Amino acid sequence: EKLSEQSKIPFYKKQLRIALRNCGKIDPENINEYIAADGYMALGKVLTEMTPEEVIDVVKRSGLRGRGGGGFPTGVKWEATRKSKSDIKYVICNADEGDPGAFMDRSILEGDPHSVLEGMAIAAYAIGAQFGYIYVRAEYPLAIHRLRIAINQARELGLLGKNIFGTDFSFDVEIKIGAGAFICGEETALINSIEGGRGEPTVKPPYPAQVGLWKKPTNINNVETFANIAPIILNGADWFASIGTEKSKGTKVFALAGKVNNVGLVEVPMGITLREIIYDLGGGIKGGKKFKAVQTGGPSGGCIPAEHLDTPIDYDNLTALGSMMGSGGMIVMDEDDCMVNIAKFYLEFSCDESCGRCTACRIGNKRLLEILNKITEGKGEMEDLEMLKELAETVRDSSLCGLGQTSPNPVLSTMKFFYDEYLAHVRDKECPAGVCKELLKY
Ligand code: SF4
Repeated sequence: EKLSEQSKIPFYKKQLRIALRNCGKIDPENINEYIAADGYMALGKVLTEMTPEEVIDVVKRSGLRGRGGGGFPTGVKWEATRKSKSDIKYVICNADEGDPGAFMDRSILEGDPHSVLEGMAIAAYAIGAQFGYIYVRAEYPLAIHRLRIAINQARELGLLGKNIFGTDFSFDVEIKIGAGAFICGEETALINSIEGGRGEPTVKPPYPAQVGLWKKPTNINNVETFANIAPIILNGADWFASIGTEKSKGTKVFALAGKVNNVGLVEVPMGITLREIIYDLGGGIKGGKKFKAVQTGGPSGGCIPAEHLDTPIDYDNLTALGSMMGSGGMIVMDEDDCMVNIAKFYLEFSCDESCGRCTACRIGNKRLLEILNKITEGKGEMEDLEMLKELAETVRDSSLCGLGQTSPNPVLSTMKFFYDEYLAHVRDKECPAGVCKELLKY
């Protein structure tokens, strides 16, 4: 009754909860509640009725793409790891969620940890792994606490460990706690970190599917990706593929935040528009102010202006707008936000989190930040705008890993859509939103 009432509330009306299906409904510290919600049925089904190849085929046909940001087809990744020849393979769950404003994975781990364990076990069976790691950031103590409880309860019931469901499949999981580096969300840096090395990315190829953890084939997916696996197995590939757009199937969880009336996690079918999320679910802009932009994809994404509010959200459309799906951060900005200052905020984050391995990212981003500081302090010159764009493109094109390659996106997208604001700062020595003027008194 409570749930049907809830579905009438605008915030929930257009949501379709697959990854978040149990969050807020079950007690995450009681495995019996997960089992009562069909938990571990998908694992039982694959172990007793399906070959690993059949599991991979279902995941491939479902069209599920990695929810951590890259959007790589999950089934293709599993297949590549399965085909790599080795007696020892690993499954890793990337729970090092670090984008500013993003808390999708945290909520799944805190609200439904077994859905992730079940997804990992199914992946392990499909690729031929016996052991898995969950790399979770230290800043998520409740998630770690609940994962520990979930792992112990699953072991007690024989759902992790030796001969699961009486078959010859054995699989167990260990938690690895991160040390606060955003770059460890990059898969090769994450592997280095688990091995005890510096959390620095390495050149790909070889990909982890070929040479991964301890040099063994390794499949890495993020929390939300694993949480989608059991429903796909139980309901079928066609069911999942019937949701979403042609190239982006299923749903996506977004952390809706910023200048919007209703903030929080929303899980919506791919293809929904930004306008529907911000105005229908989000209830519009706070205080009746004017919408200015929405940043998707955190520091890797870009600012999308009002003229693109009716764009259906999927991986390809967001990339075409110079932004990214990313892991699901969605920060709404209004007329009081200065877009030059927003670009500076994200760039400061990327500068702090750069591992420093390659020059383009380590030095290039610092130079970009210096130019933005100059502009927001009212000392910018017209040549700075050319330099800003040229340098941003150089950092994008010559950095080693995704962090550096995407870090200039906030600069490039704000220059593309809000060039008038840059001009106002440089030419007229004015901040149209009044933010820089107030802060810096020029
Ligand atoms: Fe490190 Fe940046 Fe280079 Fe990535 S792009 S390896 S984060 S310095």
